[in-house]
Amino acid sequence: MRVDKIMVKKKIGEGEKKLKMGWFSFSCCEDSTIVFTELLNDHFEEWNRIFEFQHVRILRSKNKLEGLDVAFVEGAIASKADEKKLLEIRKNCKKLVAIGSCAVTGGPAAQRNDFSKELQKEIEPLIKKFRMHKKVYRLDELVRVDYKVPGCPMSEEKFFEVIEKLKEDFGVG
Ligand code: SF4
Repeated sequence: MRVDKIMVKKKIGEGEKKLKMGWFSFSCCEDSTIVFTELLNDHFEEWNRIFEFQHVRILRSKNKLEGLDVAFVEGAIASKADEKKLLEIRKNCKKLVAIGSCAVTGGPAAQRNDFSKELQKEIEPLIKKFRMHKKVYRLDELVRVDYKVPGCPMSEEKFFEVIEKLKEDFGVG
């Protein structure tokens, strides 16, 4: 077993077998959140044994960012404010998983990156007004990403695979 896996295991501790998880959405249509919500219909009991849903706005009104084990992050980063939030999430989690094509590749949320020069000029006032970044970023351009779940919306199969990897990494389940 790799040393970093052993260290993560030790941090979680013997009596504390659940992964503190967070689910976050940035610029996107949030369809992967809908997929996740639908999956909860069938997997809630099983996942409730391995996850503590610490920061999941679709499930709770009070959420805590500090001390997450894993953060699932959907969407691309289009503004300085969102970049700041993403950096904050990265600082507060041990593993970060990019969820869906927008988070993994930037697109389709990043389609303005490919606008013609004329169109870029046309949207410039909006970019300034809403303090957007000049380009839209995929997550791994700004922070370290540990796992990726591609697909638009996310691939359920890949999501299950990543959950198995996380269970192994943290020694839970
Ligand atoms: S990857 Fe697809 S489904 Fe997910 S947020 Fe982007 S556009 Fe929506």
